[in-house]
Order: sequence, then structure tokens, then C-alpha cells
Amino acid sequence: MPKPLWAPWRLEYIQQADEQDGCIFCAADDELVVARGDRAFVILNKYPYASGHLMVAPARHVGDFGELTDDEALEVHRLASTAIGALAQAYRPQGYNVGWNLGRIAGAGIVDHVHLHVVPRWAGDTNFMPVLADVKVLPEALEDARRKLAAVWPSG
Ligand SMILES: [Zn+2]
Repeated sequence: MPKPLWAPWRLEYIQQADEQDGCIFCAADDELVVARGDRAFVILNKYPYASGHLMVAPARHVGDFGELTDDEALEVHRLASTAIGALAQAYRPQGYNVGWNLGRIAGAGIVDHVHLHVVPRWAGDTNFMPVLADVKVLPEALEDARRKLAAVWPSG
């Protein structure tokens, strides 16, 4: 088991998620979307655990993991696989955490639109992240991350 990451800005995220109107996935900001498929898409996490932290979500607003269709489940995982390839090129991480947080108690900030996290990992990142990472993630940094990943995303 990986050590849990301490990311204080996640608390702000979880609080804000409740206050937001609508769904951040359904109203996905194109500035954060790295790639779109037919039934799912890849979006940067605005409140990342690490650089290049992505989420893959079905296009359909669905909060119950079991309600994903076979096509949706397949495309979400295929996109996650492509995302790992793009992250490998753009960020050269040493490993990844890929997973679903289902329900508030499991750490989900958005509970009514399921999404798969893809988090790049580096040795020692749990130590330096709380020091280097701040609550404020600059939009420029996210835009850079989006451009970097979109540039290496395979076309077609
Ligand atoms: Zn939604």
C-alpha cells in the first residue's frame, strides 16, 4: 500500500465542491480537458496531488460506479492507459496511482459524477510535496500541463 498523501488544499477542494453549482465534469472547462473520446474524457485536476494529476470521467453524468455501461467502463480505462503513456513522455514519473474514490468517506470531492484518478508518482514526493505545493495552483501551471500532455497525446 502506498503511503497516504497529505494534501491540505484537498480540504478546500472538498468544501468548494459542495458549494459549486452544477457538476465540474459536465461543465468541463476546455482549458483543463486534455482529450475527449466518444463516451469519456480526460481532464486535469485543478487541485492536484502531483504535477500531471489527471482524471478520466464518463461524458454521462453518472454517480453510481455500477451504472457505467461496458462501453463507458472500457473507454475510461483505455483513456487512462493512453494518459499513462502521455504522462510517461511528458513527466517521466517513476510510478502511478490509478483509482476510484467512491463516496465522500473514500476521499471523493465530487460524489455524483464518477471519475478515475491517474496520479504520477516520484520517489520522495510525499516528503517534498507539502513543502513545495501550495493551496493555490496557478492557472498558468495547469494550462502548461494541459498543453504539455495534449502535445504528446496520440492522434486518432
Ligand atoms: Zn456531471
